[in-house]
Amino acid sequence: MSDCIFCKIIRKEIPARIIYEDDEVLAFDDIRPQAPVHTLIIPRKHLASLKEIGQEEASLLGRILIRAAEIARLKGIDHSGYRVVVNTGPDSGQEVFHIHFHVLGGRRLGWPPG
Ligand code: 5GP
Ligand code: ZN
Repeated sequence: MSDCIFCKIIRKEIPARIIYEDDEVLAFDDIRPQAPVHTLIIPRKHLASLKEIGQEEASLLGRILIRAAEIARLKGIDHSGYRVVVNTGPDSGQEVFHIHFHVLGGRRLGWPPG
């Protein structure tokens, strides 16, 4: 996807503070952090949202969640706790249509979310 901002980050066409990358995923800090730790994990494969996910992505999504836990450890919030969020569609406020997992922590997070 040539005009997708997260694909541009994957191709290193725009800069990001990259925390982790491998042949399948990339993790980088959110440009407008909503908590002391706010990292995004994305697959290299362009998938617009959870709505586009099928059975063939089951193992990829599982590995992304394992990465989320690793990033929480790396960021030192595994004991204090954190939240993993996947905004999907208009009511969620999804802005970027390349699926991404927010990892948020480092402060007490409100519930229910706003
Ligand atoms: P959404 O609302 O779609 O779930 O979240 C998109 C997130 O991507 C937002 O938290 C926003 O701050 C972040 N974001 C948007 N553009 C960029 C960018 O160019 N670089 C980085 N690092 N984060 C971005
Ligand atoms: Zn993309």
